[in-house]
Amino acid sequence: RVSIHWFRRDLRLTDNTALHHASKGSDQVVPAYILSTWKRQHDWTGPNRQHFLCGNLESLAKNLEAIGSQLLLRAGDAVSELERLVHETGASAVYTNRDPDPFGREVEGKVAAMCQKHGVEFLTFKDVTLHGPEEVLNGEGKPYRVYTPYSKNWLSLPKPEPVPAVKSLGITLPKLVSLKLPTVRHWSLPECTAATPPPGERTARDRMKAFISSGRLAAYADMRNTPAGHHSSCLSPDLRYGLIGIRELYQRCQKAAATAKASTKASIEAYVKELAWREFYMTVLHHWPEVLEMEFNPEFRSVPWDGDDAHYEAWKEGRTGFPIVDAGMRQLLATGWMHNRVRMIVSMFLTKDLHVHWRLGESWFMQQLVDGEIASNNGGWQWSAGTGADAAPYFRIQNPWTQTKRYDPEGEYIKQWVPELKDVAAEKLFQPCDTPLAKGYPLPIVDHSQERERTLKRFKMAKGR
Ligand code: FAD
Repeated sequence: RVSIHWFRRDLRLTDNTALHHASKGSDQVVPAYILSTWKRQHDWTGPNRQHFLCGNLESLAKNLEAIGSQLLLRAGDAVSELERLVHETGASAVYTNRDPDPFGREVEGKVAAMCQKHGVEFLTFKDVTLHGPEEVLNGEGKPYRVYTPYSKNWLSLPKPEPVPAVKSLGITLPKLVSLKLPTVRHWSLPECTAATPPPGERTARDRMKAFISSGRLAAYADMRNTPAGHHSSCLSPDLRYGLIGIRELYQRCQKAAATAKASTKASIEAYVKELAWREFYMTVLHHWPEVLEMEFNPEFRSVPWDGDDAHYEAWKEGRTGFPIVDAGMRQLLATGWMHNRVRMIVSMFLTKDLHVHWRLGESWFMQQLVDGEIASNNGGWQWSAGTGADAAPYFRIQNPWTQTKRYDPEGEYIKQWVPELKDVAAEKLFQPCDTPLAKGYPLPIVDHSQERERTLKRFKMAKGR
């Protein structure tokens, strides 16, 4: 039996559910990746993530060669390309891991119809998450709208075990034409200038092991909100591209917890709860795909977002005169990644201080983030805007100055990303000033207290309608 494994966001050989089943159920597996075309038109892509993807494909191709196989690369519409491959290979089955987002699901539906037309089996597997969107439901069998009860239920459910690493995919069929490995030019994008993480399954596995064994996981609960240094796992890009399996990550955490002291156990639990946030937002997007177009909470669909373009540009470039905001936005530009606490600060600042629509922030993040994940990004933006599932209540508006004092009291993070502030005394970084902090550094572009009041009025009005 010949099968095709259609790689998408599972660019690894270890703990890969569909690939494991394909290898067990077939004499030959043709491992294929199809470079999509829709991203060319979409404003949700940028060089950082595509550059990381290119490196990951290169590494996947090498790993497949090492087990005597060959990555087959095609470009275009996934349905027609898979149809062509089915004819070329005589495959009787197509295997893939299910994509949690609506775009991926739509293509899966079309591939299923194509396979049915040709009498080919289409086998899809849960792989990206520990629990699927229909598995964690409330007492009435409905999806949760709030994280805490979701996570309690999620934590209580038995978790799937990792699947064994694939060691062989049979002999690759001869004469199959494969494209060369792509560069970001394939998507007509400019070169990536950000220092994105080193790609590939092996490197990602090393990052995962280092996070667990180096003491960072043990200190996670205490340190995860500190943006200076590397205290969180930084595994989000690896999870985004499936360079590590979620089952293996979870199992490693559980093993570490089994022999740990109480404080470490609590820290590991705090980390695992973050993994539940990822699945919560995927569940929200699954059940309410309209969140990509509008506010989850209908009460706030009439809130006006009339921030001006110059403010939006200043925010994107890290020139707002709010050091913590500028540091975060510059970290994003320089690396394609930003610390979670700072993501919350900059997103709340854009929506509540600058009154710019959360969808513009969402789209900028998707263009820049190496870990750009539709569900988590939309969830994070709607949380900060105060409009989403389990959102921060609209009246709880973070103050960027007090946030700085609390999470970057020495200004270490700010000074790393905004070098012109390196000689400024730390206490000056957490209060508004009326003279520039350094030559060339702007004064704050808005007054936080005034903008806070404006936001509160707008949300109250929308609520009262
Ligand atoms: P850790 O602190 O080590 O957390 C472990 C893992 O849990 C992360 O790798 C991630 O997979 C998951 N996680 C943690 N926090 C969240 C959260 N709030 N929501 C969903 N999953 C979470 N995360 C993305 O992966 N992609 C995005 O596009 C994205 N956009 C965001 C936009 C905004 C406005 C905000 C506020 C948050 C966003 N997040 C996003 C969530 C979070 O900021 C990142 O997952 C986290 O910073 C990644 O760093 P880490 O791997 O070191 O996280």
